[in-house]
Parts: sequence; C-alpha cells; structure tokens
Amino acid sequence: MSAPTALMPVPRALERLLAAARPLGREQTLPLSEAGGGWLALPVSARVDMPPHDNAAVDGVALRFAELGEAPLTLPVTLRVPAGAAPGELAGGGVARIFTGAPVPAGADTVLMQEDCRFTEGAVTLPARDGVEAGQNIRPAGQDARHGDTVLAAGARLTPMALGLAASVGVPELTVRRLRVTILSSGDELQDPAEAPRPGKIYNSNGPLMAALLQQSGFPDVTPLWLPDDRAATDRALDALLADPDHRPDLVLASGGVSVGEEDHLRAALESRGGLAFWRLAIKPGKPFTFGDLDGIPFFGLPGNPSAVLVCYLTLVLPFLRRCLGAPEALPMATPVAAGFDVPRAGKRQEYLRVRRLWRDGLAVLEKHPNQSSGMLSSAVWAEGLAVVPVGRTVQAGEPLDYYSFADLLA
Ligand code: AMP
Ligand code: MG
Repeated sequence: MSAPTALMPVPRALERLLAAARPLGREQTLPLSEAGGGWLALPVSARVDMPPHDNAAVDGVALRFAELGEAPLTLPVTLRVPAGAAPGELAGGGVARIFTGAPVPAGADTVLMQEDCRFTEGAVTLPARDGVEAGQNIRPAGQDARHGDTVLAAGARLTPMALGLAASVGVPELTVRRLRVTILSSGDELQDPAEAPRPGKIYNSNGPLMAALLQQSGFPDVTPLWLPDDRAATDRALDALLADPDHRPDLVLASGGVSVGEEDHLRAALESRGGLAFWRLAIKPGKPFTFGDLDGIPFFGLPGNPSAVLVCYLTLVLPFLRRCLGAPEALPMATPVAAGFDVPRAGKRQEYLRVRRLWRDGLAVLEKHPNQSSGMLSSAVWAEGLAVVPVGRTVQAGEPLDYYSFADLLA
C-alpha cells in the first residue's frame, strides 16, 4: 500500500480529470423516440428551412398592405388558405382568408388578425392603413433555421427541446455516443434489497444509486457486479472485465474498497496493475476518491458511503464524462445563494452540504440538512442540491455560497 499523501485539492483533481478525458464508447444511430437524454456524436444539420415558408402567425386575413385605404375598406375574399395548404397566389384587389401556420400566398405581404376585420358574405371590411404595420403577423421562412444550418453541435445533450428542434428540421434519427459502464459494488456486508435481511449485512444502495445516476446522465447501458472484500477475488473480477475484448466496458465505476482499511482491496488491485493516477482528495464527503486507468479503461473508485458516492459522481465523474463526450461545458454553473446558517470552523476539505432553498422576503436562502453524515441518503432526498464551502472558509449567515441544484448538476 502506498503511504497516504497530502490531500489533493478539488480544483486540481478536476484539472487532472479533464486533462485525462478522451472520446469514449461507440456511435449508435437511434430514432428520436430512443435518443432522449443521450449525447450527440455527430452534429445535426437542417434538411429544410424552418419554417419552410412565410406563414401566418394568427387566424385572419392576408392582403397587400398597399391596398389598404385611408378609411376602412371592403374587399372580396378570393382565396382561402388553411394550415397545410400548398402556397398559392393572391390576385390583386382581393384578400385571402388565412389560418395560423398557413403559408402566406404570393402577392400578400401583411396579415391582419380576424378580430380587427369584419366578415360579411364573401367579403371582409378591413381597418384603415393607420395602425397597421406592413409585414405584420408573418413568420418568415427560415426564422428558426435555414436549410444546411447546424442546429445541434456534436456533444450536445439531447433534451426534449433538442429532440423537438431535430424533428422540426426533418431529422428523424440521431447519432449518439453510447458507453458501456460496469458498476462494481464492493463489500462483504452488502446484500441485495430483494433478500431478507441477514445479521451483520446492509443493503446495497450504491449499486442502484450509481445505475440511476448514470441512467439520468444518458448512459443506460450498465452492468452491476458485486465484489467481496478479498484481494484474490478482486483480481479475478478485474481480469474477467478485461478478458473479452468485444465486451470490455468503456468505464468502470466502483464504490467502496478504496479507503485505507485492511479490507479495502480495490485501490491496491488497481495500483498493482500500474493504473492508479491519483487518490485522496480534499473533499467532504468523499476523501478516498480514486481515479485511474484499468488497462486503458477509465476507473473511478468512489468511497463506500452513499452520500459520498452522490457528491463524487456529480462533481467529479460527470464533468469528466461531459468532457469525454465533447459537451461545450464540462462544469456546471454555480448560483450564489445566501447561507441561512453559520459555518463557524474553517475546514481542511472542500465541503458539499446537502441543502435546499427557502424563500424569505422574496429572496432565496439556503437551509442545510441538520445531519450531513456521509452514510445517509435521506438528507440527500430531502435536499434540492449542494452548497460548497471552500477549504479554509468560515461562513456567516447571509453570506453567499456557490449553490448547485441537483437538476443543474445532472444537466
Ligand atoms: P468502504 O469505503 O468500503 O470502507 O465503505 C464505507 C462505508 O460505506 C461502510 O459503512 C460501508 O458499509 C458502506 N458501503 C460500502 N458500499 C456500500 C453500498 N454499495 N451500499 C451501501 N453502503 C455501502
Ligand atoms: Mg468496504
């Protein structure tokens, strides 16, 4: 076992992780209905102008602006254009009855709302030109995108909005980057939640927690494995992961077994293979965090405590993955929010507090869960996000802290 070294500051660990990032996984082309939440591998270009034609923004009347008079004027309705009709042409001296989304007929240049017009049999009385703007109520062709424009860049996360935009420009399938992830849950104390409780055991919560975090981050292809606290068994399991070149994972995410106890074998097994890059961070919770390379596969050894797994995944693993996938921003953006509590003693580790926001006199204030134990998950369920207390900082109520909602962290 290597001698414990000084704790690595979180910003330095992030620098090292982002520098180690490289493209992972493989490309897969999926229909829009299956691509949601994924990460684009290839950019998306518009196959048509969107909208494809100038179209009416309201239900009403399309006309030539120049034909409006100084006083109200009645003109015949010579054309009817519902949504979905092919673009037609408006002859001079008449107007078109038009509906929202319908193509503006050639010749017409302005659309009036139907509320501003008076309809009679076959004709319509139009208001005076004063108060009407030439070109009003027309959404121009190509307003959203022009044929050939890149509407989504490689590395973009496929949000519902991104999927809608792809569909709007005629793209029915998207090429995403898919990762195979192996989750290792280590510990002789672990048992499956489906089993009856046994003496001395606890249920494995990190496995389902990590699988769900990965799923929410757009990585559904997850294989869970359990590892006993035994060095030989750990070595065998790691060998088995690497044995079949066609089924190697792209990423290994482990929990437990990376601390300094006699029963912590995972980090030692990684180290003996020459794959340990760094471990022991100035982070709370999550000090034993380990990063390395398992024969070319990025390996994250997260601590065993469930809240440490959550914090380390959100703040360290996911930024690394975003960078690997080419996302424009690897790090989430913090929002400054006033602390609703004091932190009277400066810490030696950057602390991530489980917090939620309260509204006092219309302003957000952070409330901290009273129990910040790293072994607890109920506090993380109670919380909306994390607030960061940097190394060496004390905090007085009212001072701003960097706040990250879970939604921002998982975006
Ligand atoms: P370790 O890092 O292996 O020393 O584990 C630290 C703490 O986390 C211990 O209390 C373990 O029982 C607990 N722990 C480890 N793995 C899990 C898991 N998969 N689910 C729930 N708790 C765990
Ligand atoms: Mg353990």
